[in-house]
Amino acid sequence: MTIPTEDHKPEPFYWDADTDHCPHKPIPERGTDAWDQWMTLGHQPYDDGVLCLDAPAGTGCPACTAELGDMIAWSACRNRDHARARQLPGEPQHQPVAADVASLECLERECDEYFTDEGDEIPGKDTCSHVRRMEICEACSEPGAAEDFPAVVAWTDCAKRTAARPVS
Ligand SMILES: [Zn+2]
Ligand SMILES: [Zn+2]
Ligand SMILES: [Zn+2]
Ligand SMILES: [Zn+2]
Repeated sequence: MTIPTEDHKPEPFYWDADTDHCPHKPIPERGTDAWDQWMTLGHQPYDDGVLCLDAPAGTGCPACTAELGDMIAWSACRNRDHARARQLPGEPQHQPVAADVASLECLERECDEYFTDEGDEIPGKDTCSHVRRMEICEACSEPGAAEDFPAVVAWTDCAKRTAARPVS
């Protein structure tokens, strides 16, 4: 159910037409006129079958998905910076906030620094030198996401930044 490419970037994902998510059932016999007709209903061939463009599966990261086999949501892309989830007092705004960010590997205590040279986990260690302070955009960073470590968007990359702060 993916369109394979190698880049870490947000991309809309769709379910395979073979799944219950495709509303265009039944699927006709391949190579018939009915099949051609059915394909025009928003179906797109890919390596493993046919995608249904009426069955969105969310925004995924094609590179992570290709690497891990299962669909990886863009918010869980391992190539992005992530922060520890925190509760916000109100609606997230497009404004800069400071956050401690790192790769998922570091936040999940899986990078080298959490282990001794012998490969034993170091007890009680809860941060590593890869964690850094960064100005992130509160609203773009989806801080309300249920995931443990929401992906963050740097304040400098906020798309609404100029709109929020008009230059007079
Ligand atoms: Zn369909
Ligand atoms: Zn990725
Ligand atoms: Zn680390
Ligand atoms: Zn923003």
